[in-house]
Amino acid sequence: MNPDYPLLLDLSGRRAIVVGGGPVAARRARAMGEAGARVDVVAPWACEDIWELHDLGQVRLIAREYERGDLDGTWLVHTATGDATIDRKVADDAAEANIWCVRADDAAASTAWTPAVAREGDVVVAVSAGGDPRRATALRDAIRLLLELGELPVRRVRRSEVGHVALVGGGPGDPGLITTRGRRLLAEADVVVVDRLAPRALLDDLADDVEVVDAGKSPRAHAMTQDEINALLVERARAGQRVVRLKGGDPFVLGRGGEEALACLSAGVSVAVVPGVTSAVAVPGAAGIPVTHRGVARQVTIVSGHDGAHDEPIDWAALADTEGTLVVLMGVGRLGEAVGGLVANGRDPSTAVALVERGTLPDQRTTIGTLATIVQIAEQRGVVSPAVIVIGDVVALSEHLTAG
Ligand code: SAH
Repeated sequence: MNPDYPLLLDLSGRRAIVVGGGPVAARRARAMGEAGARVDVVAPWACEDIWELHDLGQVRLIAREYERGDLDGTWLVHTATGDATIDRKVADDAAEANIWCVRADDAAASTAWTPAVAREGDVVVAVSAGGDPRRATALRDAIRLLLELGELPVRRVRRSEVGHVALVGGGPGDPGLITTRGRRLLAEADVVVVDRLAPRALLDDLADDVEVVDAGKSPRAHAMTQDEINALLVERARAGQRVVRLKGGDPFVLGRGGEEALACLSAGVSVAVVPGVTSAVAVPGAAGIPVTHRGVARQVTIVSGHDGAHDEPIDWAALADTEGTLVVLMGVGRLGEAVGGLVANGRDPSTAVALVERGTLPDQRTTIGTLATIVQIAEQRGVVSPAVIVIGDVVALSEHLTAG
């Protein structure tokens, strides 16, 4: 066996035939049908999958024994009858008629082989491994995973005519906490517009010609305004670029992702939103604090501690009254105000509070106190942004969940 001439076939509109009615025949028939072939299946008995394909009009079932004339007008034959005598006869007839024949029962006696295939967009990887389908499949699976993770250089050099924007949640900071879809879109991007808190380590893997725009610090060293960011996304997509807007955490959790998506849509630019692991849940988690825990808290409230210039002031009275765990993002700068507001509105000053700085990153640090003590402790320890504030009884679990 010497399959040393790999080839991709265009089967669209061409006649192909599968001899056999079992599951292997069904798989082959389906795959050839999906490739656009006009597929005939010849078998006196056929499994349910083949009947289904037949009923859907994707193949035509000829319900009888194979006859030599079945090969007339055919470009390609698969034989998978489970009967070596019939398979051999099909293969011999095919050889005589100069038609390529894949034999499921005997790779060595075949004239053609089907590789294990991985596809990603317009990339096709076909793997063959010494006639051993298991080895080929294992290797294909490993390649497929790398393709899905965006770890292979699949980026097209030629730009597409139609650009688009993907708002990608990068997770809380550890580069391992982005989704595989986000990772793949990053690998395909022409330009990446990145937030201050997005996982910067991911940028190291980008090809040299991928433009990185730092929205937290523009070339003129000022943080871009939201309008400037929206305009940039639209402008680049309109220029035919694949734009990834890489954001910290989840794009739709206190991240203004909704505004960016709306700006793209109202400009007629297509936009995809890839969720991310939000720091509101993952950062407490990384410090051993589950935001809910049976018997302790069954509700979690996520709030921004930063009431931007035009927003309503934060309603500490209402928040003091909520059950369960309170998670405050963008809050360390005004920790005193948060704590004061909660206690003034009736929260027990002995309620536990944790401040988790730089969660999931190598220099993550947790500071624990109570509503009564946390402001002073935070000052002593010099707690700074980015940090997540966690308030509630679940904080006590960190002692157990970070041990060992
Ligand atoms: N969309 C983001 C939140 C953006 S608001 C998300 O879903 O996570 C920015 C705030 O998130 C910061 O002020 C801080 O409170 C929190 N934050 C983000 N990453 C963090 C990290 N690694 N450690 C601690 N807090 C973090």
